[in-house]
Amino acid sequence: MPSVAELAEAEAELFPGRRLIEIREKNFNYWADAESAVALQHLQVKATAQGFKLQVCSAYRSVERQYQIFKDKFTGKRQVLDATEQPVDISRLSASEKIKAITYFSALPGLSRHHMGTDFDVYAANLLPEGQMLQLTCREYAPDAYFYSLGQFLQVQAPSCGFVQPFCMATWHGGREPWHLSYSQRARQLLSGFSFEALLKLYALFDDDFMPALIGFAKQHYRNLLCMN
Ligand SMILES: [Zn+2]
Repeated sequence: MPSVAELAEAEAELFPGRRLIEIREKNFNYWADAESAVALQHLQVKATAQGFKLQVCSAYRSVERQYQIFKDKFTGKRQVLDATEQPVDISRLSASEKIKAITYFSALPGLSRHHMGTDFDVYAANLLPEGQMLQLTCREYAPDAYFYSLGQFLQVQAPSCGFVQPFCMATWHGGREPWHLSYSQRARQLLSGFSFEALLKLYALFDDDFMPALIGFAKQHYRNLLCMN
């Protein structure tokens, strides 16, 4: 594994101009892009007025963390879900098939929009039934499920605060993620500074056996995986 300093430097070069600040909430602290965090607070105020206690469960995520998630999925330590949100056995797949399966619901390290700090996973704390663990699945947003009204709210009100739902767009071929919001203006700015060369520099710091397959897959798909279009 690379050192913390090496990783931080390579990660900062991926999205030049990124500026993260720490947000402290009652039960959860997170890091996010400063402007995006302000926009999210506006959306939270609107949500409160309509009866939703809108909370963030994930904002900025480091490359190191995403790398670990990816590695755990690739090596079978963590579940990989298919299009119907059921666990899939990836043990017999080739390396690139495994990576493809993982990317249906999960980002590759260096290619997560959460690295920018402009993107948030949200939920409504007051709609989550007591004792129910937050899943982040589409089942929670089905018409008879507890987040259905939250889904309706986000669809209508998120754009009015400058947010888009990149993983609900017609151009996205992976799993739908109605809980994932992106502060569009800042995300577009940061994505315009992204280069595949900077990603290669980052990947050069890692030496796991799957790296050649990961690099090959990333080269082919990075624009789609980051929803750059
Ligand atoms: Zn997300």
